[in-house]
Amino acid sequence: LWPQVLKQLEAVLNEQQMQTWISPLEAMEDARRIRLVAPSGFILDWVNKKLFGEIKQAVGLVAPVNPPEVTLEVGDYALDSFDEPEVSSVPQALRETPETKQDVEPAAQAKSTQGDSGTKKSIKHNLNTNFTFDTFVEGKANQLAAAAARQVADNPGGSYNPFFIYGGVGLGKTHLMHAIGNELIRRNPDSRVVYLHSERFVADMVNALRHNKIDEFKRFYRSLDALLIDDIQFFAKKEQSQEEFFHTFNTLLEGNKQVILTSDRFPKEVDGLEDRLKSRFGWGLTIAVEPPEFEMRVAILMKKAAEFGFLLPDEVAFFIAKRLRGNVRDLEGALKRVGAFAQFTQQMVTVDLAKEALKDLLALQQKMITLENIQKTVADYYKIRVADLLSKRRTRNIARPRQVAMAISKELTSHSLPEIGDAFGGRDHTTVLHAVRKINELKETDHRVEEDFNSLVRIITN
Ligand code: ADP
Ligand code: MG
Repeated sequence: LWPQVLKQLEAVLNEQQMQTWISPLEAMEDARRIRLVAPSGFILDWVNKKLFGEIKQAVGLVAPVNPPEVTLEVGDYALDSFDEPEVSSVPQALRETPETKQDVEPAAQAKSTQGDSGTKKSIKHNLNTNFTFDTFVEGKANQLAAAAARQVADNPGGSYNPFFIYGGVGLGKTHLMHAIGNELIRRNPDSRVVYLHSERFVADMVNALRHNKIDEFKRFYRSLDALLIDDIQFFAKKEQSQEEFFHTFNTLLEGNKQVILTSDRFPKEVDGLEDRLKSRFGWGLTIAVEPPEFEMRVAILMKKAAEFGFLLPDEVAFFIAKRLRGNVRDLEGALKRVGAFAQFTQQMVTVDLAKEALKDLLALQQKMITLENIQKTVADYYKIRVADLLSKRRTRNIARPRQVAMAISKELTSHSLPEIGDAFGGRDHTTVLHAVRKINELKETDHRVEEDFNSLVRIITN
């Protein structure tokens, strides 16, 4: 049952949660019970507190009649693994894969120990092999980040060190980071590359401290060619981890080993992060990923649809891209929903079908985007009052924001021109139409207007 449960979980949890907390669990099942064995107490606690509900729900979905009981425990081997040199110092995440230890045939084993320095070589990269440069769609929003990432892969430990990617959720930071890791390993299979979510780094460190293995822990990390740490905002306020990380980080940089980091915001703005870390992060290259623009959203939908193996007509891609402006993860989720819905009802993928499949999602979005909301956000943005927007005043510093607000209203809501005109102090629908045209024209020619418009759309849709 567990493999099916995992499939269910994949649909509701993100990659990072799956990799950090779910995949370390070992399942032992019979007809009545699924015993989940966690490799450490830390993981046990975490799963118990934060993900156990999801797990039980997934089991219920897979086995609606007589679902087996699910229990969670910590395995004995959590401690044993510490007694092995080198690999064991880094607990579960990086533990040597079991196959290379025991399960290989004697002949193969003899062969593998011949040339190389034995077990030392096989470390667990934790890389998702689907996250490559090939599967990464580039556009205005991430062009710089992608170009820099390729350079890092070309020249690890070079001048972009550390390489720091920041930006909102679901915009491809983790993907890009894995792409570099995968590329490094493709070029040099022996390369000691390790990806870790920062929470996992902290968990492993706490574990190492608890078992007096901190020296091995340090030695392991300092032996890497490239260290990829995701979402470092979680380091904030964990002083001891910062201290340890700072030393590891310095050692790696001094040895010209590549360090890649991501965060949901600019390093200097991560609360609780030590100043010396912030400033050191800035020594390499810090680069942002932005929310995808329309063309890129369409391209992403097309590419993902092809990967999922279903045909996505252009107009459906346009429809989804127009209505969902958030991040790539949401786009992907929407696409999966449309695909599943089409399969389930055995229908062709059409705009109507997409509307039906995404009904709840779109309704939720519409509810939050009201004309009032738009007016208030635009007024705040330009530091004027909503009353000014609705007034008859026609000075430029009021008239332009008013036009922007109208154009955004047209773009983001399904209100008609007369309805929008009404909401803006009882204006005629031709006034609204004029505003929409004017702003669309200015977006092409006036950089400032384009930027304001895009920022506002982002604020309103998030
Ligand atoms: P982040 O780490 O910024 O929160 P992720 O890297 O986890 O975002 O991306 C979320 C999902 O969206 C992943 O499935 C990823 O493959 C996909 N994704 C994000 N950006 C792109 C892109 N430019 N091209 C293709 N897929 C993308
Ligand atoms: Mg991420």
